[in-house]
Amino acid sequence: MSEIDNKKTSAPSPLRPATQMVHGGVMRSQWGETSEALFMTQGYVYESAEAAERRFVGDEPGFIYSRYANPTVSMFEERMALLEGAEAARGTASGMAAVTAAMLSCVKAGDHVVAASALFGSCLYVVSELLPRFGVDCTLVDGTDLQQWKSAMRPNTRACFLESPTNPTLSVIDIAAVADIAHEAGAKLVVDNVFATALWQSPLALGADVVIYSATKHIDGQGRCLGGVILSTEQFIEEDLKDLHRHTGPSLSPFNAWIMLKGLETFPLRVQQQTRSAGVLADRLSDHKAIERVIYPGKADHPQAELIARQMKGGSTMLALEIAGGKAAAFRLENALKVIQISNNLGDAKSLITHPATTTHQRLDDDQLAAAGIKQGTLRVSIGLEDVDDLWEDFEQALAAV
Ligand SMILES: *Cc1c(COP(=O)(O)O)cnc(C)c1O
Repeated sequence: MSEIDNKKTSAPSPLRPATQMVHGGVMRSQWGETSEALFMTQGYVYESAEAAERRFVGDEPGFIYSRYANPTVSMFEERMALLEGAEAARGTASGMAAVTAAMLSCVKAGDHVVAASALFGSCLYVVSELLPRFGVDCTLVDGTDLQQWKSAMRPNTRACFLESPTNPTLSVIDIAAVADIAHEAGAKLVVDNVFATALWQSPLALGADVVIYSATKHIDGQGRCLGGVILSTEQFIEEDLKDLHRHTGPSLSPFNAWIMLKGLETFPLRVQQQTRSAGVLADRLSDHKAIERVIYPGKADHPQAELIARQMKGGSTMLALEIAGGKAAAFRLENALKVIQISNNLGDAKSLITHPATTTHQRLDDDQLAAAGIKQGTLRVSIGLEDVDDLWEDFEQALAAV
């Protein structure tokens, strides 16, 4: 995990996840502090010149430089690996640093990547604009159509990339089936698991090779700082990622790692509560006459309910709404909400709403919006930790104003 502790964490732990999120990965200093220490240090001193030499050669465990590893960051990585059931993890400065480093670790010039087209905007830039500049071709497919994945595979395909549920329309991709297609072609499957969260979906157990998170979202969960994490086998982290991570510098700040580490203590409680509220609101909103459609992976009427039952243990903290009256009505609803705030972020303790067609997805033209299932009346809602009845009353008064 950390550079000083290479033991595998995939060994089944007798402790349950909620306990691991409080105790997992703790490295106490000589002071015996209860709460994890924040090691704000760039470097480390050695007791002798010989010790420095041994550390650099790798004959002696220990930290060298915080671009490589830092005790607070290592505690976060260890706790994340326990949560995910992964052998190893590396923290990164943001979710996008995790996506970029993970994808670059899979490919070289002349290779090919297949990705689902329904991706977070910056992820789409990495696979379809950045990688091709370095000689890595990319084919985009409709991720829900397995035949398209199969047809897109080439002898030089080295990586497949997807997120599920997708942003913002919450459609679901069959991770186990895409993993099989990728492996048959000799490619790795990289999954962005942000929308599902580690609590409700385990891509590694479904056959994925690498999982990435924007820790900015539910892992911090309180809207404070950016961070990311890459989880995979010890072999991938050590052989494919380690040098790239060390020498290109997407390292996670110890301060942000400390926030994330403490965020993980309450992560299961928060995500469970936010998911419960999302389910309640999905039911109540679907009965409201101003709402044409509610898309929620935890609802029986989701078009992929059967796949969701196989692949996810919970419905997520996200909802998509389609409101009658298009953009004008969507804007009126957003502006009339008093508790729910307008923001493109998600996974926060505060409930947040965004109009994808004019914000997160405004670079798409009408055809691309239609292909992504985004209408002018589509709104994406991230459910927070407020009392669910206050959220419902906020929706009721705002929908009355629409
Ligand atoms: C937010 C997000 C990212 C990027 O994470 P940052 O921490 O903002 O860099 C990537 N994928 C998904 C699905 C996201 O929601």
